[in-house]
Amino acid sequence: MADELAALQAELALAQRRMARAEAARTQAEALLEVKSRVLAEANAELKDHREQLSSQLSQRTRQLLDAQRVAGFGTMIWDLQARTGEMSPHAQTLLGVGGALAMGSIHPLLRQVEPGDRIALLRWARGVRELADGACPSPDVQDCPLGAAEPSTAHAADCARCEAQLQQDRGLELRLLPEVPGGRAAILRLMARLEHDAALGRPLVFLTLQDVTREVEAAREAAALRAAEQRRLAELELLTAELQKARDVAEAANAAKTRFLAMMSHDIRTPLNGVIGMLSLLDETGLGAAQRDTLAVVKGSSDQLRMLLDDIIDLERAQSGKLSLNPAPIDVTAFINGWTHFWAKVAADKGLELVLERQAFGWPGPRLGWVMADRFRLRQIIDNLLSNAIKFTSEGKVTVRIGPVAEGRTRLEVIDSGIGIPAHRRHELFQDFGQLYMAGAEQGGSGLGLAICRRLVELQGGEIGMDDAPGGRGSKFWVEIPLHEIP
Ligand code: ADP
Repeated sequence: MADELAALQAELALAQRRMARAEAARTQAEALLEVKSRVLAEANAELKDHREQLSSQLSQRTRQLLDAQRVAGFGTMIWDLQARTGEMSPHAQTLLGVGGALAMGSIHPLLRQVEPGDRIALLRWARGVRELADGACPSPDVQDCPLGAAEPSTAHAADCARCEAQLQQDRGLELRLLPEVPGGRAAILRLMARLEHDAALGRPLVFLTLQDVTREVEAAREAAALRAAEQRRLAELELLTAELQKARDVAEAANAAKTRFLAMMSHDIRTPLNGVIGMLSLLDETGLGAAQRDTLAVVKGSSDQLRMLLDDIIDLERAQSGKLSLNPAPIDVTAFINGWTHFWAKVAADKGLELVLERQAFGWPGPRLGWVMADRFRLRQIIDNLLSNAIKFTSEGKVTVRIGPVAEGRTRLEVIDSGIGIPAHRRHELFQDFGQLYMAGAEQGGSGLGLAICRRLVELQGGEIGMDDAPGGRGSKFWVEIPLHEIP
């Protein structure tokens, strides 16, 4: 009995120890729970703060995005084809003239806003977008689809690069919206659709961008109209140019025929004229009286002038028909220059003018030119023309002739006068066939052929001819540069 009591007491003591341990464990657990609850509460509070912060950031960003859309004239819309709902940004609503969220099960609300002519295009476009969202994987080869499905679907776009790429392609459409005011102008809207796979929903959503492109389209239309008008004008101009070219060809042909005829006539006149001039020289040797000799000199002078004119006409025709040629032969330049200077100094002096000759005038180092190969007759013709003009168009002062090399094998001649000069705006008329300027104060006479023939003769020798103001501004400076090579 005592044993049993002792055993019971031991059991009781054990139970009490266990209870005490359990109590201690419970207190510990409660303390731990309290700590954990506190930590959890703190974490919750922090999380809440963070969520609130995020949500305020999100709404701030959304506001910014919407503002940016409004400023840029964009509106956006997310269209869930399966749920038949659409969410529009405020600016998209303004652009479409619809309010609030749309039941986007169909495209009909949008259709009502669109000009009748564009409705079919909108329906087709919407069908295309829908088919793509619902339809088959755009991978042409099923092998390309990593899922290898017989009926691949855009639903697995996240796993198929091709589907993904196809989904992401922008699908654009331009629509004319009905004007709000009858008779007003239709606004033009550009719709851009992109499909994007929504992992949470497990299906693609349509992301739409709407943009008012009225000004852009109108500007493009105006530019196209302007381009078309420009093209038309260009075509007209080309036609006109062709007509002008034709007329010019005809005129040139007529002109050439006229010059040929003139040359033929001149040739025919020149032969008997040479006879007359020869006879006049003979007559001069028959012991005429002083008065008769004076008369004869006038007749001879006129005959010489007439023959020069005929020579010029014949040269011009030769030049125009490409028959003008040179006959180079050795000439002594120094003797040649002396010869013609002597002659022209006398002509100038008869008119009270001084003729000044400057050799080696351009500072090119090296000896004076000696013997060169040149066409003496044609060289003389150029110099005579320039000098006779300088004397003809100068009533007082002097005529200066400057000559000398300007580079190896290149000789320059300048004939400078103190005469009436030629205004810059008329200089383009120089060197043209029959180009006479008829300026006030100019001595009349001449044929207007001298400079034209000079130009052709100079060009034939590979040289250049031109005219500038005389140094000091009064009078003219005619210049020629031609290649003259010394005979070694
Ligand atoms: P023309 O036989 O008429 O002199 P040119 O061809 O030699 O023919 O000259 C054409 C025109 O150029 C002249 O009629 C004249 O108007 C102008 N001209 C030529 N040389 C001079 C010059 N030294 N000073 C002023 N005008 C000149």
